[in-house]
Amino acid sequence: MGAETPLALVFLGPPGAGKGTQAQRWASALGMTKISTGDILRQEIAAGTALGQQVQGVMRQGKLVSDQLLIELIEGRLSRLSPVRAIFDGFPRTEVQAEALHSLLRERGVPLRAVLLLEVPEAVLIERIASRGREGRDDDAIEVARKRQQVYRQETEPLVSYYAQRGLLRRTDGVGSPDQVYARIASELEQVPGIC
Ligand code: ADP
Repeated sequence: MGAETPLALVFLGPPGAGKGTQAQRWASALGMTKISTGDILRQEIAAGTALGQQVQGVMRQGKLVSDQLLIELIEGRLSRLSPVRAIFDGFPRTEVQAEALHSLLRERGVPLRAVLLLEVPEAVLIERIASRGREGRDDDAIEVARKRQQVYRQETEPLVSYYAQRGLLRRTDGVGSPDQVYARIASELEQVPGIC
């Protein structure tokens, strides 16, 4: 499987699970592009774009930005890639987004080969996010962190069974150092045909 083969992977997990770090490392290792919706939206806010102004309030409260907006954003990113070799971090977050991703990938002939679920207990997540908040991310205050966990459980956790039913889910223990988690993901991905 070479660097020209279309491929999609999703990194799923609660806020603070370490998806962004792992998605970045795996994107480099596999010659893929990381598409991190949280990063993209924060860049839009920092640049003061119309989109950024639209999403700022919702993000600060720890709520989800609208499905339609996210789906358009992903469609725009996919259209820039040829071939499409993408790791999604922070998308999909709802079943509507998951269905949309399925269609967007199918239209482009890109196989979604695996969904990596990073599992971390909630107490560990809140502590990680609180220390990140002390470093300055303004949606990382403790109350907002709790809100984001609640939104995850309500809106996003249903995707765990959604992808398990489709035979795509790979569960990974997300507690430990980034190197340890990276190694665990490696042993999951080794079992998936068409990746390494
Ligand atoms: P974390 O992984 O720590 O939850 P992200 O950086 O992925 O944080 O996302 C930060 C915020 O951006 C979310 O709380 C939400 O407001 C918004 N966001 C990111 N991705 C999506 C998405 N797929 N759907 C809706 N909102 C999103």
